[in-house]
Amino acid sequence: MAELRPSDHIYSDRGSYCHHGIFVGEAKIANPNKQGKTRKLRHAVIHFRGIERNAGAGADGDGKAGGCRKCFHKAGDLGVVLTCMDCFRRGNALYRYEYDVSWITFNTTRNGSCSTWSCADPDTVIKRAYDFFHNQNFGQYNFYFNNCEHFATACKTGKPRCNQAAMGTGVAGVMVYKVARLVTKGILWKE
Ligand SMILES: [Zn+2]
Repeated sequence: MAELRPSDHIYSDRGSYCHHGIFVGEAKIANPNKQGKTRKLRHAVIHFRGIERNAGAGADGDGKAGGCRKCFHKAGDLGVVLTCMDCFRRGNALYRYEYDVSWITFNTTRNGSCSTWSCADPDTVIKRAYDFFHNQNFGQYNFYFNNCEHFATACKTGKPRCNQAAMGTGVAGVMVYKVARLVTKGILWKE
């Protein structure tokens, strides 16, 4: 946990795919059950949720009708969402997406876990994430062309990019991105 910094692009491994987001640190959220009341979240994540491929098991928000007890997130909430860390990682190990790495490192790292792109300063990254969240203007979710990884890289670099879908399709993206397959190092959060 000590290593996690606000503005970090993080992801959790959900087996068949990875879910990406921007760790924003402490955040204040509105309490939908008590008008005018807010609540402080210690470890908030802004991420882009589309149609879940495995919506059944381990759904967000504890699967409760009222949503998550910590962040009020509901399983059906889609688009750019701000949630607690539990809703983001759903019990899975957490990793940081590395930027500014060399091509050699990139080639020996699991696909979708790092990039050779450089990223903006932390304040800019967090501001971009909040802007997308408040304005809900990141667009329609599309697993291949506009997914959670695109969202996080857009916050970090200013442009949406993705390694993950490239590997999933094995067609379009491979032309653009080098595919790497080894497991990445550096688990940041584990129970
Ligand atoms: Zn939550």
